[in-house]
Amino acid sequence: MTSPRVNLLDFDADQMAAYVAGLNEKPFRAKQLMQWIHQRGVSDINDMSDLAKSFRATLLDKAEVLSLPIIKDEHASDGTRKWLLDVGAGNAVESVFIPEDDRGTLCISSQAGCAVNCRFCSTGRQGFSRNLASGEIIGQLWFAEHLLRSDPEAIRRIEKYPTPGWEHTGRVVSNVVMMGMGEPLLNYDNVVSALRLMLDDRAYGLSRRRVTVSTSGVVPMIDRLAQDCPVALAVSLHAPNDALRDQLVPLNQKYPLRELLAACERYLPFAPRDFLTFEYCMLDGVNDSDIQAKELVRLLRNIKCKINLIPFNPFPESGLKRSSDQRIHAFASVLLDAGMVATVRKTRGDDIAAACGQLAGDVVDRTRVRERDVHSAEIEITEVESNEQPIEWLKKLN
Ligand code: SAH
Ligand code: SF4
Repeated sequence: MTSPRVNLLDFDADQMAAYVAGLNEKPFRAKQLMQWIHQRGVSDINDMSDLAKSFRATLLDKAEVLSLPIIKDEHASDGTRKWLLDVGAGNAVESVFIPEDDRGTLCISSQAGCAVNCRFCSTGRQGFSRNLASGEIIGQLWFAEHLLRSDPEAIRRIEKYPTPGWEHTGRVVSNVVMMGMGEPLLNYDNVVSALRLMLDDRAYGLSRRRVTVSTSGVVPMIDRLAQDCPVALAVSLHAPNDALRDQLVPLNQKYPLRELLAACERYLPFAPRDFLTFEYCMLDGVNDSDIQAKELVRLLRNIKCKINLIPFNPFPESGLKRSSDQRIHAFASVLLDAGMVATVRKTRGDDIAAACGQLAGDVVDRTRVRERDVHSAEIEITEVESNEQPIEWLKKLN
């Protein structure tokens, strides 16, 4: 019986080196393989022309380069692009590319479904299917980057990116946010392996400030991430006290706010910038009062942070409503008046229903969402640069 092929996308640089050594090949072969796969986007081992023929023959027998099959590829009028990816057993995950004037952000998934089951998140409501392998995580960047390089519109945009070295790499994706489906820190090893590839100069060479892990607050893993791969951290807070957060983010019952915020403070010295981001989903009548804003100020006053207010993206089963623009405005004013840094997340890709927190749990469910609600969904992802003006969004609302 032949053993199954290994997926070369599953290996970070060290793992690739170990694999190549195990085949009795010289270490530089590992570097060549990384470059072929990640820098040039080549998946066919036959095309890796500077590898010795005998080595190629061994690889053809034992290895492959396999990313998740694409079920659907959608383009929004604002340039946002979304891919629905097959993870088997009738399940799917999504990746979203959001082009902006000075960057191209890819939002990727870490799990099919999610076990945390946040009250306001359709991924959570759909339950947990499985962890994605590291190759399935980095594979989302791999195919998006190389697919977009053949898109003339995307190519035009890269000339605007200030990403160092883009002239050499021709890189289209300048930022990655782990804000798709799943809780990245509950799939820790595979996520860290994929993060290492994102940062590795032999692969994608992204700076640590441009790679963001978003977490609902898995305290021990925040500490491990600080040691293993300290990229930018976004913490999904959504409530200013334990009583409410216990209901909205059930993981809070295991890791309450005091422990979570202590972990955040421990992370700060390792963070690529001198602040963390807290995400706060604005839910009408649930967490959006002035009193709650003041409570939030008291909670976060001593942590260097930025609060990112996310207008709730509704989905029918949630029974929740988005806060009005006026309420979001008033909530933010309380934060700003108290000297906090706060921004509101813009919405993008409306016409392809690529909503944050509304990503597909499975193909069947996805179809239902589209039939019901094709025009109401909104999405967004922004990674905030340190020079962003906190009050800019207020002007947009006015
Ligand atoms: N599991 C991680 C990352 C994926 S969710 C986390 O929770 O942080 C990415 C972000 O989308 C989180 O901040 C999450 O709270 C937010 N989100 C989830 N559902 C949403 C919804 N329906 N509307 C707006 N934001 C939502
Ligand atoms: Fe999971 Fe994040 Fe959704 Fe919560 S918000 S259910 S942690 S994906």
